[in-house]
This record gives sequence, structure tokens and C-alpha cells, in this order.
Amino acid sequence: MSRVFNFSAGPSALPEAVLLQAQREMLDWNGSGMSVMEMSHRGKEFMGIAAEFKANLIALMQIPANYKVLFLQGGATGQFSFIPQNILGAKTKACYVNTGAWSTKAIKAAKSYCDVEIAATSEASNFTEIPAVDTWKLDSEAAYLHYTSNETIHGVEFQEIPDTQGIPLVADMSSNILSRAIDVSKYGIIYAGTQKNMGPSGVTVVIVREDLLGAVDPKLPEVFNYAKQANSDSMLNTPASYNWYLVGLVMQWLQDQGGVAAIEQRNIAQANRLYAAIDASSLYSNPVNIAHRSRMNIPFVLNDASLDKEFLANANKTGLIGLKGHRAVGGMRASIYNAMTDAGVDALIEFMATFEKNH
Ligand SMILES: *Cc1c(COP(=O)(O)O)cnc(C)c1O
Repeated sequence: MSRVFNFSAGPSALPEAVLLQAQREMLDWNGSGMSVMEMSHRGKEFMGIAAEFKANLIALMQIPANYKVLFLQGGATGQFSFIPQNILGAKTKACYVNTGAWSTKAIKAAKSYCDVEIAATSEASNFTEIPAVDTWKLDSEAAYLHYTSNETIHGVEFQEIPDTQGIPLVADMSSNILSRAIDVSKYGIIYAGTQKNMGPSGVTVVIVREDLLGAVDPKLPEVFNYAKQANSDSMLNTPASYNWYLVGLVMQWLQDQGGVAAIEQRNIAQANRLYAAIDASSLYSNPVNIAHRSRMNIPFVLNDASLDKEFLANANKTGLIGLKGHRAVGGMRASIYNAMTDAGVDALIEFMATFEKNH
């Protein structure tokens, strides 16, 4: 068996130690004689797994006590619609910042529930930068301001938490959660699908400040009602129990790496090496404003697009997979989430240099 270096945007590479532990525990979790997949979600064993998973996430992100941590379904995409239905209450407006493809989708979904005010957009630059926060149009009547902390497709990432002058801040953190230290207390809601930086797909993490609960649209089905799920330990319906367990293993792994601060340093170093290689080459380029470049998703184009096919085919042969860019931006994209190893980034850089030399 040989494993590839997987640069896919999501689902994406998992730490090998996690896969091996899941394999070891597949038939018999911790002497229970069962796979975690087979356990009752109400049983003592699974309740323990769930409690540890949640406690580890709270510790890793230093989530304050006045926040609820929910593990839901429906993906980040579902939350695009569930967020306005949960927290608009009597308000009719919400502000959105548009920095790329995922913000655009969130905006489109929210329009069914409220007046969406675009506080800022970088559409004119093809989403290669983040509009300066002091130019944003903030409306104090808005129920919240939504932004995408890392645009997975365009490779644009906020390096600081925007100051919204008291408007509750809602962040789609699907592709950079746990990749860097953040101050959770600055947020109203943080949400993320797990398949980028936390584990396999199938769980959606929603971290919500308690004072935002209770303004819910009564027509919203209760499994999407944050307050009701908070009161039921996210078990109003049967949870994706095996996925919770796997994400829990990734949380343990992250703690073994030294936590978020330590992985952040590794992420910075890996991204710097890859951007430096791109910037030094005359074949590859990245269009994003240097101050707003993502540490997680690094898109790049070849200056001769007719070489794209050969680049991807040779990369695959070398064991580097998932490098094809999203069709919205073309070219290539290397997603280097927490689970990407230094060896993977080095192998990519070496491959790119060799390919450039031969062309
Ligand atoms: C992948 C992604 C999504 C969509 O996640 P789903 O789990 O497929 O709904 C939303 N936002 C961002 C930033 C993403 O990277």
C-alpha cells in the first residue's frame, strides 16, 4: 500500500495516526466488543466519546462558557439558510461581506429570509482581495454581519477578525477553523463543515453565543433550531455518531501536535514555502493580494494553460493528487489543511520545480 499526498479541498487528507487508530478500533472500541458505528448514541460508551469530543474542541478553541457548541447536519450550506431563521427574530436586515464563491452562496440563500445588505464586496477584483474593513457599510439595524473567514475556492483569507461595532459577527469558518488561534468571544456564531480541517464530512459544528438563541422562526424544523439542539446535546435526531468519533480523534491528534498555536506555526511555514516557490517561478503565479493570501488553499495558474493537463497527469503519477483548481478560477489549487505534512508540501514544491525546468 502506498498513500498519496492529497491536496483536495474537501473531503481532504486526514492525519495518518487518526486513520490507523480508527482501523485498530474498528471491530472493538475500547473493550466494548463493538464498533463505534454499532453503538447506541444514548449508551454510556458513546456519551463518553461525545463528551470528550466536545470538551476537546472547547479546550482547543478556548470557547467561553456563554457559548453553545452544536454538532449538526446539513453542512455549512444548510447553515446559510438556518442562520437567518435562527437569529433574525424581529429584525429584517443582515449585512454580508462578499469575498468569493462561498460568500456569494451564503448571500443568495439569506435573501429568502431577509434584506441582505452588502457591506463590502471584492467582486470587481475577481475576489483577489478583501475590502478594507474601514470602508465597510455597517448598518446598526442589521441582525448580524456575515463573512467567510477563508474563501476555499479563491484562496483569500482574513488575517484579522473584523470589528463590526457591536453587530453580532457570524463567520463561515469551514476551511480555516482550528488552523489559527482566534478569539471566539469576538463572534456571535462560528460554523464549519468538518470535511476541510476537522475530519470526514457529515458533521457541522455551530458555535453560538447564548444571547442569540431564542429569536428563531417558529416554522423552522426543530432539528435545525439551535436552541432546541443545544437543550438536547445535539441529539434531537440520531447524530452522525461515527463521524463524531472520527472528528473527536482528529481533535485528540491536534492536541498531540501541541494544539492550535503549534499547528498555526506549521501552517504558516508550509504556506510561506509554497508561496515563495510560486512567486520565484516564471511558470506559476497566484493572483491574490499578498496581505490576503490563504494559508489553507493556495490557487495558482500556469502561464501557459495548455500545460494544465500534463501538469495534473504528471502530478498524479508522482502521487500528488487533488490539485485541479475549482472550475470558477481554473488552474491549480493546493489545499494544505492541518493534516498536510511538511513532506507533502516539499514533494509538491519539488515536483513544480522539476516540471518548470522541463518546460
Ligand atoms: C466547503 C465549504 C462550504 C460547503 O460545505 P458543505 O459542508 O458542503 O455544505 C461552505 N463554505 C466554505 C467556506 C467551504 O469551504
